[in-house]
Amino acid sequence: MISNSLRATLICSIVLFSSCKEDIKKPTKKNMSDNVLIQEWTGPYQGVPAFDKVSVKAIKPAMEEAMKLNLAEIEAIANNTEPATFENTIVAMESAGKALSRVFAYYGIMGSNVSSAEFRKVQAELAPKLSDFRSQISQNEKLFQRIKTVYEASQKTPLEPQAQRVVDLTYKQFEMNGANLNAEKKKRYAEINKELSSLYTDFANNVLHDEENYITYLNKGQLGGLAEGFIKSAAKIATDKGEEGKYAITNTRSSIDPFLTYSTERELRKQVWENYYSRGDNGDQYDNNKIIAQILKLRKERVGLMGYDNYAEWRLQDRMAKTPENAMDLMMAVWPAATARVKEEVADMQTVANELGDNITIEPWDYRYYAEKVRKKKYDLDSDEVKQYLQLDKLTEAMFFTAGELFNYKFTPVAEGAVPVFHEDVKVWEVTDKDSGKHIGLWYLDPFAREGKRSGAWATTYRSSDSFEGEKNVLASNNSNFVKPAPGEAVLVSWDDATTFFHEFGHALHFFSADVKYPTLNGGVRDYTEFQSQLLERWLSTDKVINQFLVHYKTGEPIPASLVEKIKKASTFNQGFGTTEYLASALIDMKLHLADPTDIDIDKFERETLDELGMPKELPMRHRTPQFGHVFSGEGYATAYYGYMWADVLTSDASEAFREAEGGFYDKAVADKLVKYLFAPRNAMDPAEAYRKFRGRDAKIEALMRDRGFPVQKV
Ligand SMILES: [Zn+2]
Repeated sequence: MISNSLRATLICSIVLFSSCKEDIKKPTKKNMSDNVLIQEWTGPYQGVPAFDKVSVKAIKPAMEEAMKLNLAEIEAIANNTEPATFENTIVAMESAGKALSRVFAYYGIMGSNVSSAEFRKVQAELAPKLSDFRSQISQNEKLFQRIKTVYEASQKTPLEPQAQRVVDLTYKQFEMNGANLNAEKKKRYAEINKELSSLYTDFANNVLHDEENYITYLNKGQLGGLAEGFIKSAAKIATDKGEEGKYAITNTRSSIDPFLTYSTERELRKQVWENYYSRGDNGDQYDNNKIIAQILKLRKERVGLMGYDNYAEWRLQDRMAKTPENAMDLMMAVWPAATARVKEEVADMQTVANELGDNITIEPWDYRYYAEKVRKKKYDLDSDEVKQYLQLDKLTEAMFFTAGELFNYKFTPVAEGAVPVFHEDVKVWEVTDKDSGKHIGLWYLDPFAREGKRSGAWATTYRSSDSFEGEKNVLASNNSNFVKPAPGEAVLVSWDDATTFFHEFGHALHFFSADVKYPTLNGGVRDYTEFQSQLLERWLSTDKVINQFLVHYKTGEPIPASLVEKIKKASTFNQGFGTTEYLASALIDMKLHLADPTDIDIDKFERETLDELGMPKELPMRHRTPQFGHVFSGEGYATAYYGYMWADVLTSDASEAFREAEGGFYDKAVADKLVKYLFAPRNAMDPAEAYRKFRGRDAKIEALMRDRGFPVQKV
C-alpha cells in the first residue's frame, strides 16, 4: 500500500452549512416567496436545486427573507406557553432550517464555484447580517432556557441515545456560543461576531485579489522543462487574458506546483514562488497582517467573556483531541522526525544539483524542482509517466468501483438536462444500492478550474440525510480544479491529484452513508471528519483499482507492475517536505491562538516562532499566515488545522486493520464494520467510542510513523 499523501489532502476543506439548521417549519403557502431561490426544490429525485435559475440579484433578498422566516419561527418555539419538552423544543428546532438551507445551497455555489466581483459585493453586505442573525438565535434567552430545561431533565431521565446526543450537542453549542452570558456581555459578544465576519470576508477577498492579480507571463523562450499539456493550457489562459502569444502562470496552487517542479528557469521560479507565498502580504491595501491581528484580539476577547483563557482551549473542548495540549503533543511528537528528514532531502537535492554542475545552494524555489530530479534518480519515477495512467474518467470509475465494493453503491449517469446544473462542466450521477436498487442520492461533480472558482478541492452537500421526518436522499458534490483539456484530449492528473480526488469522494461517501435521525447529528467533528476521507485515499493504490482503472490513456494497457512498485517505493519520498510544511502551518495556527494578541506583530511572530521551532530554511509553511484561509477567512479550521494529522493517525491505524484482514482492503467483515461504525453514525456517536468499536482499541501513532517512513520510537 502506498501511504496517503498528506500534501494532497490539505487542500481540501469540507463545506457544511449546518449552521443554518435552526430554521423552523416550512413556509406555508400564503407566505411562500416568489423568489426562486427560496422555493421548495421540485423535479425528480425528491426535488433538486434550481441551479439553472441562480442569479446574484436574487440571492440577497432570498437570504434576507429566509432569515426573517427563520427568526419568526425561532420566536414561536421560544415563546411556546407549554412547558419545554424534547418534542416542542429540540425536535422543533431540528425540523427547522429548510428554507434557509436551500438558500445556502445556492449561496455556497455562488461563493465557491461561480464567484464574481458582483457576488463578492453582495457577500460583503450579507456577512454582517448573517452574523447578526446567528447571534439572535444563539443569544435568544428564552430559547436557551427551554433548551436548558430539556437538557437538565435529560440528565436525570436520559433519552434514547440519538435524542440524548442531539440534546447534549445543542446545549453545548449554545453554551459555547455565549448563551449563559448576561445581557451586557451578550451585547459585546454579538458586536465581536459581527466585526469578525466582516474581517473574514475581507481576508478571503484579499487573498483572492492577490491570486487573480499576480500573473507571471512567459515568452516562448522561457518554457524550458514544462510539459506540453501545461504549456497549452498556459497559452490558453494568456489568450483569455488578452496576452496572445504569451503563457500565463497564475498565482494558484494548481498552476505554481507544476511550474516549480519542472521549469528550468530559476529566476522565474523565484518570481512565481515569491508571488505565491506573498499573497496577502504585499504591504498594500490587500495586506492581511493587520486583519489577522484584529481577528486574534477579537477571538480572545470573545472567549474571555465566557471565562476561557484562550481561543484554543475553548475550541477544542468538543473535539476528539479535547485540549490544545493533546494536539500539540501529537504535533511535537512528529515534528523532529519530519525536520530531520528535510535535512536528508536537502542533502540529496544538493548532491544532484552539484552533479548537474548547477552551482547553486538549494533555496525554497528549488525544492520541488530538485526533489523531482531526486525522485527520478532514486526511484526512477517520472511523474509525467505516471500521469499517463491517471485519467480523470477512469479514476471516477475507480471511485465508483470502490464505493460498490465497500458500500454496495451503484453510480448511474443522469441524462444531461434532467437535473439542473450551474455550469456546463458539472455532471450528475444517481446513487443506488447495488442489490435493492434503493435510491440513495445524487452525486454532482464539478471537475475543472475556472475564473471565479476557489482553488483547491472540496466536498459539500446540498441536502443531507436524516430520518426523523421520514427518509431523505442526499445531494452531495465534489469539486476540483483540474485544468480543462483542449477538446478531445484526456484529462491526465498527477498521483497527488488522484489521491485528492479519492479524498473528496470519501467525504461524499460519508454524506451518502449517513444513518442518523436528526440533522444536528450529521455535523462533523473537525479533527475526526477528515479521517473518513483520508482513509478512502488508500483504495487508489489497491491491486483491484490499479489493474482495472489505472490504464494508459493511449494504449489502454494497465500500469506496469514495475511502475507500481516504483510508486510504492516512492511513497515515503519527500515526506520531510510534506509533513514539515503542513506541521509548520498547524503549529503556527495553534501558537497564534495561545499567544497574547495585544500588540502582536504577525510577521514577526511567524518568523520568530518558526525560528524557535527550528523550521528548515529551505521550505515555507504550506499556508503562510497572511494567506491561511482555513484559519482566517472563517473559523472552520481555526486551531483545528492539526486535525488533518489527528485524523491521519486514525487513518494509518485503520488501514492497518484492513491490511491485517484476510481479504485485505476488500475484506467484507472489516468493510461492514467500517460503514457501520466509522461512516454511518457521523456525529450520532462519540468518535472515540466509534473508533474503539471498529478497532477494539484506541488508535496508535506508530502506524502513521511507519506510513511516512519515519523511525518508530520504542517505548
Ligand atoms: Zn477533506
